[in-house]
Amino acid sequence: MTTSEYHEFVVIGAGVGGLQQLTRLLQMGRDVLVIEANAGVGGTWFQNRYPGCRFDSESFTYGYSFSQELLQEWDWSEMFAARPETLRYLEHVADRFELRPHIRFDTRVVAARYDEPRNRWRVETDAGDTVECRFLITAVGNLSAPTTPSLPGADTFEGAMFHTRDWPHDGLDLEGARVAVVGTGATGIQVISAIAAQVDRLTVLQRRPNWAAPLNNRPIGADEMAEIKSRYDEIFARCDATPGGFVHGPVEERFADADPAQRRALWERLYDAPGFGIWLGNYREVLMDPEANAELSAFVADKIRQRVDDPATAEKLIPRDHGFGVQRLPLETGYYETYNRPNVELVDLSEEPLERATPRGVVVGGREIALDVIVFATGFDAIVGALTRIDIVGRDGLALRDAWRSGPRTAYGFAVPGFPNLLALTGPLSASGATNFPRAIDTCVTWVSDLVQHMGDHGYTRIEATAEATDAWVHDVAHSHERLLMRNARSWFTGYNTNLRGTEKPRHLMYLGGAPRFRERIDEVARHGYEGFSLERV
Ligand code: NAP
Repeated sequence: MTTSEYHEFVVIGAGVGGLQQLTRLLQMGRDVLVIEANAGVGGTWFQNRYPGCRFDSESFTYGYSFSQELLQEWDWSEMFAARPETLRYLEHVADRFELRPHIRFDTRVVAARYDEPRNRWRVETDAGDTVECRFLITAVGNLSAPTTPSLPGADTFEGAMFHTRDWPHDGLDLEGARVAVVGTGATGIQVISAIAAQVDRLTVLQRRPNWAAPLNNRPIGADEMAEIKSRYDEIFARCDATPGGFVHGPVEERFADADPAQRRALWERLYDAPGFGIWLGNYREVLMDPEANAELSAFVADKIRQRVDDPATAEKLIPRDHGFGVQRLPLETGYYETYNRPNVELVDLSEEPLERATPRGVVVGGREIALDVIVFATGFDAIVGALTRIDIVGRDGLALRDAWRSGPRTAYGFAVPGFPNLLALTGPLSASGATNFPRAIDTCVTWVSDLVQHMGDHGYTRIEATAEATDAWVHDVAHSHERLLMRNARSWFTGYNTNLRGTEKPRHLMYLGGAPRFRERIDEVARHGYEGFSLERV
């Protein structure tokens, strides 16, 4: 095939990361093409259209911070905006910064091959095009490669069946429908709470319960929005200072220095407050010390018992295999009260296993449940899947899939030995997966943009992570898991996904040392002339 198209940069994805990277590179006067599989901008916020989809980080910490004008002209309507508002925001960004002419929509990158003699990447799309570039930047999202169970008989089911990420784009009339939702992560919990009142019958197929806490959403009025706008510098400085990049950071007081009544008072306040405070604005020890964690877990378990009328159902909703906040915490609005509705049934799959689908529904524990719709809220091949689903081949024919067969290896999430000039925004082993995504994206876009500026200033045309720096970072990432109870969790934070063959064991997908330490570390690398990377003029 002959190639007629060349850009200095190709960015894969026009979601939150891709849009910011594109804006920055255009401001630097560079030649960029973004290739986007969807018909519009927004990435996760374009794709996820399931009922109930909304932020669980405060809206005003989710927006971009790189433009004062943008901050001042955009009003958020709620503390935690729903998906249509977020999508409108990202569309506004695309228009405001005139990004669309640089984005090729409805085009999926299927392969990318590094051509060493020419120091170029050859990028292939599902449209049959080949585009060459010097730098290939991936902005493919951390949770964009859906995974579903292989359910025997699924192809015989006569109703509608889909993953939450593929909720029908032209909507779905659930009035009078019999619906099953498989999975009770953050997505399942949002869907279940949103549709319970609409459907005729809702069956929740729960394998393991998840701890969840109230979102405590509320509108933001004009006065409050004006006040937020006047404090943006302070808000973003606060986010920069906390491990998770949120406005919530651990309290100064030690768990051991508070008596049980004081602990309870803090937890009551946090349970009724908006957002992740109960998870990230708590005593540090609750995520590290099993005893502190058990006391908090007992507090939240009692809340569940108070909110669910049927005691047996309440017990089924309380996790036994992990403590509160050890897995990524879903935030909910009326989730537990959903189980007080007469049209909602909770099926505990540990008692009644999901056996198969039939033309009319599913069979659990030997009984058939009649259904019109089956929704898989079963999660993603997190952080790694969106990259390895592209056939990326680096130097000497090395495939990324093979390089990462026993777990991803990167230098700071940005680069992989053997894959020169391939730069990942928020890639595996970055801190970004564990933090407020847009804040982490801002860090990563800034770092990558400064790197390419440095290369241009010094005439470098090729960058590659060294094996030594990568080994050292893989080691540091492993170390960052050691002090957290999360290290044993069986959830996407630790790369656990039973729907993927060979990845049933927890593994390290992200740096858990917190955003400030991560930033310090990568800034130090930059200050030392990108120590750990080989820079060449070729
Ligand atoms: P998830 O957290 O990985 O949850 C998947 C759920 O499906 C779990 O309950 C899991 O059960 C269940 N499951 C998986 N395979 C199954 C099988 N074969 N049979 C039965 N059950 C199965 O995925 P998610 O809910 O989509 O959330 C992923 C992440 O997306 C969240 O943690 C969050 O970071 C992000 N998210 C954010 C928001 C927001 O508000 N901004 C909303 C939604 C999602 P087990 O626990 O037993 O594995």
